[in-house]
Amino acid sequence: MEPDTQAAQQALRAVRYPGFSRDIVSFGLVRGVEVTGRRVAVGLAVTTADPEVPRRIHADAVAALKAAGFAEAEVTVSVTVPRNAPAAAQVVAGPTSEAGVGKVRAIVAVASGKGGVGKSTVAVNLAAALSRILAERGRPDAVGLMDCDIYGPSVPLMLGVRGRPLIEGDVLLPPSNFGIRAISMGLLIDEDAPVIWRGPMVMKTISQFASNVRWGELDVLLVDLPPGTGDAQLSIAQSMALSGAVIVTTPQTAAVAVALRGASMFSQVKVPLLGVVENMSYFADDQGRRQHLFGQGGGQRAAAQLDTEFLGEIPLDPAVRQGADHGIPVLVSHPDSLPARAFHALGLRLLQLLGQ
Ligand code: ADP
Repeated sequence: MEPDTQAAQQALRAVRYPGFSRDIVSFGLVRGVEVTGRRVAVGLAVTTADPEVPRRIHADAVAALKAAGFAEAEVTVSVTVPRNAPAAAQVVAGPTSEAGVGKVRAIVAVASGKGGVGKSTVAVNLAAALSRILAERGRPDAVGLMDCDIYGPSVPLMLGVRGRPLIEGDVLLPPSNFGIRAISMGLLIDEDAPVIWRGPMVMKTISQFASNVRWGELDVLLVDLPPGTGDAQLSIAQSMALSGAVIVTTPQTAAVAVALRGASMFSQVKVPLLGVVENMSYFADDQGRRQHLFGQGGGQRAAAQLDTEFLGEIPLDPAVRQGADHGIPVLVSHPDSLPARAFHALGLRLLQLLGQ
């Protein structure tokens, strides 16, 4: 039986993007496949400043297609060099050893027991607060944000970073906005691509975010973890030395048990808890009265039960959600608002706890 288009697609699925566990099909590189008898023509498009990437992909694709039974495999790779890419000489100059978290002073996980408590919102605004505080201390560009919430990566949207990161060899250069260097699966896959992750892929991605991203010199790297107590939590603790973890919860009584479960993994892997942040704590009305829409005291109780510090309350405020939707953290868009001041205080306390 002659191999068909499906066989060609199948073969291409076995070709990895150099340095990644993902294949060129799911990365969206395949533009066309045409089978005529035992001959196949494949068009690929790749955006990179590194000439080695298309070379490797071409060789691997030809080999995979031949192995699938095609007598002749014509693979065309069209290469787009990203705009603002440094000149080729500089691109190849950076040694791989510069990648990773070796020059990061403190790595802090931001975690929650379940989704929807505003964990990513807290991570992004805390990063913005840290960035501002450190810049005022003469240390600009000293904050990073690693979005490991690969099931629903929201950091690119919330932080207003777009476009594929530059890739040098197998090193990713994190784009930056508001002085925050960020990496996220949301920057590497198409928005509408189905994300079907299996445990091992989650782990691989996280370890690559830790070792293949050129984070550079940072004072603080925040890690936005997916909710729960699963693979991601474990692999993050294995991939890099965490200085500690911050747990995000909401005020409801029911949220406490969930927060406790979310925190328990960290004690198992001996990562210290730095404290609990309560989000959506209250809504301040026009007269400045605080309405506790979701109950009261969940964060305090969770902190007490975990024997850790209660780091503060973040109010529910439409400006927070608007900021998230527009890619401008409330700390930047409304620096004098109640939530912005709460995030600023949280940033100051976190730096104190980190001895910075
Ligand atoms: P998680 O990461 O826990 O799943 P998100 O950070 O994505 O949660 O937040 C869920 C939604 O709640 C988002 O639409 C976000 O804008 C909104 N949100 C989070 N915190 C606040 C807040 N303090 N005030 C208003 N909206 C908020």
